Amino acid sequence: MNYPMRLPRVKPEHTPHRFDDGSIQIGGGVYGVAAQIRDPRGWAWEALMQMDGSTSIEAIRDSLSTKHPDLGHTGADTVISLLCESGYVEDAAGHSADGIAFRGASPHEMKRYIRNLAYFRHIDLRPGAHEVAAQCDLMNSRIAILGVGGVGCHAAWALAAAGVGQLHLIDPDMVEESNLTRQVLFDERDLGAPKAKAAARRLANINSAGTFTYSPDRVDSPEKIREVVGDCDVLALCADEPKNDVLTRMVNATCAESGTRWVCAGYSGPLSTVGVFGPGGPCYECLGAGESSKLKDGWHPPLGSSGVMSPSAALAGALLANEIIGIVTGTARQAPGFVRGVNLIAPDHLVYVRHPSRPDCTVCGS
Ligand SMILES: [Zn+2]
Repeated sequence: MNYPMRLPRVKPEHTPHRFDDGSIQIGGGVYGVAAQIRDPRGWAWEALMQMDGSTSIEAIRDSLSTKHPDLGHTGADTVISLLCESGYVEDAAGHSADGIAFRGASPHEMKRYIRNLAYFRHIDLRPGAHEVAAQCDLMNSRIAILGVGGVGCHAAWALAAAGVGQLHLIDPDMVEESNLTRQVLFDERDLGAPKAKAAARRLANINSAGTFTYSPDRVDSPEKIREVVGDCDVLALCADEPKNDVLTRMVNATCAESGTRWVCAGYSGPLSTVGVFGPGGPCYECLGAGESSKLKDGWHPPLGSSGVMSPSAALAGALLANEIIGIVTGTARQAPGFVRGVNLIAPDHLVYVRHPSRPDCTVCGS
């Protein structure tokens, strides 16, 4: 049998626990990551206990089939293969002696990002995923952020700190005193300075390995959007002007032309949301049409408001950064074409919006 691994090792974040009834809890306790395994005969537990990164897969099979003759080699193969494909097990043979060098990433970089690596090991359940692969994808990614206000600042900080390779910041405005309540990349020394330039300068101090470029352009036409998306893997729309959704609809149509993935985030008082769009999913117009159809008498709720406290902006920026990290590393599980959010004033209100593509949609319809 061709095994998918040589030296299987249960990831340290996924240490299993066996209950008296024989079932196994693996992957911790977080919904979406953890799982329970029914194991009344103890086969899976036996195999897991030997998956320590130093025992060959053949040795595990022989031991398992010797202790459980009813299982045989074929049954042992099945148990081991299922565990290797579960995402809770990695191949110790795929790691270098120091466990970090991979795909050209330097030991220094991997030391800096060691907590990121543990995070990816935890949440990335793709079979055989290497702990460093996702981080390398992040370090090779190019993101453009349109609007470096409250949301854009937090998103840019999160992405730069996490190790995104290139960030391009676009904003025509200057830093004002009323921005300092939430626009985390600026302080009083930046008052009057161009936001995009000041933000790029701050980010370079946060992560000198990143490349941070900027533009004071006002992006307000399909031509200018095309220029931006031509140089990035994902476009992040964080501009809060204009208040209507003219720019969002323009980005939706323009990104669909080139198949560019894009995300947008914002807040309406205590409600912070992020939208994720791209090829293969319903577009912004289709989500909007689906939501409008649920409203009474054609009433449209206002998009956002000027009132904001820093947590709303921070949360929207963090949600946006999270989605971008998921997209560029391949760890996102949800297909594009949805809006999710958190309502800070109602902890039991979680937002998740998804509607099918309309067949007659000029942007995403078939
Ligand atoms: Zn559509």
